[in-house]
Amino acid sequence: MSHPHPELSAPPKLPKGGLRVIPLGGLGEVGRNMTVFEYDGRLLIVDCGVLFPDDHQPGVDLILPDFAAIRDRLDKVEALVLTHGHEDHIGATPYLLRERQDIPLVGSELTLALLNSKLREHRLRQTPFYTVKEGDKISFGPFDLEFVAVNHSIPDALAVAIRTGAGLVLHTGDFKMDQLPLDGRITDLRAFARLGEEGVDLFLTDSTNAEVPGFTTAERKITPVLEQAFAESKQRIIVACFASHVHRVQQVLDTAVKHNRKVAYVGRSMVRNMAIARDLGYLKVPPGVMVEAKELADLAPERQVLISTGSQGEPLSALARIAQRTHNFVHLEEGDTVVLASSLIPGNENAVYRVINGLARLGARVVHKGNALVHVSGHASAGELLYCYNIVKPRNVLPVHGEVRHMLANGDLAKQTGVENVVYAEDGVVVDLVDGVASVVGKVECGYVFVDGQSVGDVTESELKDRRILGEEGFISVIVVVDSVAGKVSAGPEIHARGHAWADSDFEPIKQPIVDAVNRSISEGSTDTYQLQQTVRRTIGRWVSNTHKRRPMIIPVVVEA
Ligand SMILES: [Zn+2]
Ligand SMILES: [Zn+2]
Repeated sequence: MSHPHPELSAPPKLPKGGLRVIPLGGLGEVGRNMTVFEYDGRLLIVDCGVLFPDDHQPGVDLILPDFAAIRDRLDKVEALVLTHGHEDHIGATPYLLRERQDIPLVGSELTLALLNSKLREHRLRQTPFYTVKEGDKISFGPFDLEFVAVNHSIPDALAVAIRTGAGLVLHTGDFKMDQLPLDGRITDLRAFARLGEEGVDLFLTDSTNAEVPGFTTAERKITPVLEQAFAESKQRIIVACFASHVHRVQQVLDTAVKHNRKVAYVGRSMVRNMAIARDLGYLKVPPGVMVEAKELADLAPERQVLISTGSQGEPLSALARIAQRTHNFVHLEEGDTVVLASSLIPGNENAVYRVINGLARLGARVVHKGNALVHVSGHASAGELLYCYNIVKPRNVLPVHGEVRHMLANGDLAKQTGVENVVYAEDGVVVDLVDGVASVVGKVECGYVFVDGQSVGDVTESELKDRRILGEEGFISVIVVVDSVAGKVSAGPEIHARGHAWADSDFEPIKQPIVDAVNRSISEGSTDTYQLQQTVRRTIGRWVSNTHKRRPMIIPVVVEA
C-alpha cells in the first residue's frame, strides 16, 4: 500500500443504483492521477498519469498508478477520459493499454494529439479515439459525459461531468481561474453554475493550491518579467520550461521577436510537443523566428534564444547536460542568461538547485522562481476554490489531486462555504455515492508500481531501500571458510568493499574479531551457515558503525569446507 489504512477492509458489494469511486493515484501525492468510477458493473476511468520519482527512489524512471484493483475487470472499462495533456494525467496510459489496447480514449484535440505521439512510441495503434470539446456530450455505457472548458497551464483542458443513475458528478481536472488567459479560454463558470443548478451530487476538486490564500497570479504578469530579462541580457538566453506549457513558449517567442532574437528548441519532448501545438494552431509561431538548434550557434550570442526542457532538474534533460557541460552542442558562456520559467514540483528541489548551481558556476545569470516572477501556478488558489464551491453548491465534496495537507485544506474551504459532507480519501480508499450521500466504505490494494527501463512493477520497495543504502553507504562483502569437522574458521575472512572510499587495509583490525566471533558461535552450537553469516554481519556491522560511522550493505558469505 502506498498509503496504508489499516482500519479499512475490502469494500462491500456496491448497492444497486450506487456509484463507486476508486482513486488509484493522485490522492496523497501530486502525480499519477487516476480515478475509477463504477456503476452497474461498468467502469469509467478519468486520467491515467505518472509520478516522477524523487531522490529516494534511485534508478526508477517513472511511478505508475496500481492497476491491480481493476486488472481482472478491464473488459468492463467503457472509456478512459483524459482531462488534459500533462504527464501526471496521461503518462501511464500506454501501460494501461498494454493490458487492454482497445479501451476508448476520450479527450480534447490537443490532449489526444500529445497522447497519440506517446502511444506511437509504445507502438500502440489499435486504440479508438473520441475527440471532444467543451459543451460536447457523449455516452459510454451507463456513463453520460459532458465536458466543460477549464483554464490550466496547458491549453484545451476539460472538466468532466458524469451523469449516472446515482446522480451528477463533476470532476474539475486541473484548473485555475485566470481571467485574462493568453488564449481567452476561461474556466466556464457559467457551465459550473448550470450544473450546480441541476444539482451536483459529488464534486471532485483540484487541491494542489488549496493552502495558498487568494488568487493565482495571471499568466500575463510574466510577460514584463521576461521582457526585462531579455532587455538586460547582452548574450544568449536559455529559457527552460515544461515541454507542454504552450502559452509560456508563446510568451518567449513573442518576446524574442521584439528583441530581434531567433529561437531554437532543445530537448526531444519540447521539439515534439511544440510541433503538435503549432500544427493544431495552439501555438502561433511568428514567421522567421524559429531556426534549428545547430544553426542558432552561427548567430551572434545576443541574437540567440534556446527554449529547453529540464526545468525540474531531470538529470538527462537538455538543461542538466548544459549545466554539466556534457551537452553535445550547447556550451554555456559566462554572462549568458538562463530563465527557469516553471514551478518547482515538490521532491525535485535538490535536483533543481543542483542544476541552478551548475549553471551559476559556469558564469550564467540564473533567473528563477526564487528571484523573479517567471512562473505562475496552473492551479486554483483558495479564493478561486471558494468561488467554485459557492457557484456549484455541491452536496458532497471529494478533494483530489494533492498531498494530504492540500486535500485537508481544500475540504476546509468546502466546509466554510456550507458544504455539509466532505469525504477524504487517499489512493485505494473506496468512496460510494448512495442515495445522494458519499462515504468511505473500504479500501483496495493500491501500491506504487515502479518502471525501471523495460521492467514494469518488478522493482519493489525493499529493492529501492537496498539501492539507497548502496548509493549512500556502499557495500562490503565478507567471505569466511569454516572447517565443519574441526569446528572453526579455516580461511579468511576475505573482505572487499565498494562505494565508499575504503582501502582493503582498513579492514585489518576487524579480521581477527570476525574469526573469534564465528569460532565462538560454532562452539556455542551454531551449525548452519545462515546463523554464522548473521554473526559475521553483526560483528563487522557494529565495527563499521562505531569506527567509521557508516551503515553499508553487508553481504556475509560463509562457506563450509
Ligand atoms: Zn495539469
Ligand atoms: Zn495534474
